[in-house]
Amino acid sequence: MAHVVIIGGGFAGVWSAAGAALARERAAGDTDLRITLIAPNDHLVLRPRLYEPEPDLAKVELRRILGPIGVRHLRASVSTIDTDRRTVVADGEEIGYDRLVLAAGSRLVRPHDLPGAGCCWWTGRGCSRTSSARARVRRSKPHWTSWASNTGSARR
Ligand SMILES: Cc1cc2nc3c(=O)[nH]c(=O)nc-3n(C[C@H](O)[C@H](O)[C@H](O)COP(=O)(O)OP(=O)(O)OC[C@H]3O[C@@H](n4cnc5c(N)ncnc54)[C@H](O)[C@@H]3O)c2cc1C
Repeated sequence: MAHVVIIGGGFAGVWSAAGAALARERAAGDTDLRITLIAPNDHLVLRPRLYEPEPDLAKVELRRILGPIGVRHLRASVSTIDTDRRTVVADGEEIGYDRLVLAAGSRLVRPHDLPGAGCCWWTGRGCSRTSSARARVRRSKPHWTSWASNTGSARR
């Protein structure tokens, strides 16, 4: 049985998983395909919606998306890809693949030498950091005013 392995549970990884599942469905039994998505996170975070009032709502459980389309979610981090042997190592477990999709996103470089970046740097990449940034802003006194607002909640 052919095995498609996808590394990453963000938009790119989930979309790839859905695409592979659709191809399998369209093959209607002609293709015996196993699909595994490997990512350490349990949720797909809808980053474009993190500016909204309750960022914790801007996420969807991966199992709710992947379960119905027959994609296995392995909750792990990949440390090694061996393209000669067609294997990956995820949390110590070696997994073979026939096709590999690398959708591990990008890694942020934090400028720690920038004053204030250590404590107050908000990347907008995750729900919990966004919630704590929002709480911090609510607690602080406003230092500036602007007619400009963020997208989707323009007010006068
Ligand atoms: C605040 C904000 C607002 C945005 N608004 C918009 C918008 O309006 N429109 C738009 O088009 N784009 C927007 N973007 C950009 C968009 O969100 C990103 O381009 C997109 O999320 C990237 O998706 P990705 O799947 O490539 O990577 P990511 O979402 O970063 O996903 C990477 C995945 O790989 C996993 N991973 C990483 N390393 C490993 C490993 N070693 N092993 C296994 N898994 C691993 C991670 O856990 C994660 O699941 C916004 C981004 C931000 C931060």
